[in-house]
Amino acid sequence: MKIAIAGAGPAGLYFALLMKKAWPHYSITVYERNKKDATYGFGVVFSDTALTHLEDADDDFFKLLSDGAEHWDDLTITHHNKKVAIDGNGFSGISRLSLLNILYGLCEDAGIRIRFGNPFNLADAQNTSDLVVGADGVNSSVRNALADRFQPQIKLLTNRFIWYGTKQRFDTLSLTFRRFDNGAYVAHHYRYASEMSTFIVECDAATFEQAGLTEKTEAASREFCQHIFSDTLNGANLISNRSIWRQFPVVTNRNWTAGNTVLLGDALRTIHFSIGSGTRLAMEDAVALFRSFRDAGPCVDAALDAFVAVRKPQVEKLLSAARSSYEWYEGFSKKLALEPVDLAYDYMTRSGRMSDERLQAIAPGFHARWSVSQAR
Ligand SMILES: Cc1cc2nc3c(=O)[nH]c(=O)nc-3n(C[C@H](O)[C@H](O)[C@H](O)COP(=O)(O)OP(=O)(O)OC[C@H]3O[C@@H](n4cnc5c(N)ncnc54)[C@H](O)[C@@H]3O)c2cc1C
Repeated sequence: MKIAIAGAGPAGLYFALLMKKAWPHYSITVYERNKKDATYGFGVVFSDTALTHLEDADDDFFKLLSDGAEHWDDLTITHHNKKVAIDGNGFSGISRLSLLNILYGLCEDAGIRIRFGNPFNLADAQNTSDLVVGADGVNSSVRNALADRFQPQIKLLTNRFIWYGTKQRFDTLSLTFRRFDNGAYVAHHYRYASEMSTFIVECDAATFEQAGLTEKTEAASREFCQHIFSDTLNGANLISNRSIWRQFPVVTNRNWTAGNTVLLGDALRTIHFSIGSGTRLAMEDAVALFRSFRDAGPCVDAALDAFVAVRKPQVEKLLSAARSSYEWYEGFSKKLALEPVDLAYDYMTRSGRMSDERLQAIAPGFHARWSVSQAR
């Protein structure tokens, strides 16, 4: 079988790797428009559950990922300068570049061609390949070229966010809420290497407008965010890497396949970063597509049908949790009136999937603290 993959991100590379390991004689080429070391962002996180799924899929990758990752058990929510620890939230963080380097290495060792600096040519790929995979991210060229078949829907959230790094270490996955000049801000921050952390700043549309952030230069925005979160950063600078204010695009597609072409990862659907699972979902899509081929054999139509039948209901559940989560953030300025422990409880139960009983089982320490506060 001949497979052409658009995009050397987590989805495309992981799918290529799983397929090549199972069928070394398949010809698999990944086309990446960027050069090898060009990437955006800083770190990504995986929950402990997500790691278990990856361990089941490929042990070699899992071991390398675990060795390169930072791990922590708690989530810390800071509000009104008070810290609330929420136990039972095991997460690991790794730099996006390290993750990609692990995948590049494993793919190249397995004999997969990765053509860096090569924008994908859909017409060529469709003419010469049995299977075409659009794993080319949120602005997918494959999805756009076949928009009448995939029927994508793209909705921009109203909150604005900007993704920075910093050399400040944080002990846990952290959320820091802050009122500043009548505006509402939240920072999502966690370390992903011994001396590097991700620091995403988010604010609502009214705050963005009122703070004049549209007019601020990249340097002025960075200084502004640094100022708002100066105590959290403990004097460390924010580091920019193509860091600009953005609105999160919620992407979905009515159809996941078009003939022998299938979408994976962010090209298929985005998942809001507040549930920390975009990379995880992209890689789980790859696992699901690989397993469809493993079960259906080399018949592309049958494998793609099986992929959609199995994966769509799973993804829909996660999308529903992500929707509740981003809706919570879209209205988070109103939540700032809550006491820290109440804000933390509201946050933890925001997806509608976390009942009080479940929270008590997962985070007994936090739940006990919250229960005491309610009894007062
Ligand atoms: C602010 C923010 C924070 C995030 N935080 C997290 C997090 O903590 N944890 C997490 O798991 N996820 C996080 N994500 C999401 C995560 O980055 C994506 O969900 C994930 O990278 C999706 O993987 P992918 O392989 O589908 O796409 P991508 O990683 O976007 O890879 C697509 C690749 O395709 C290439 N490409 C694009 N167009 C073409 C073309 N025409 N030809 C050839 N190549 C092309 C791109 O250069 C890129 O290399 C975050 C996202 C944002 C915006």
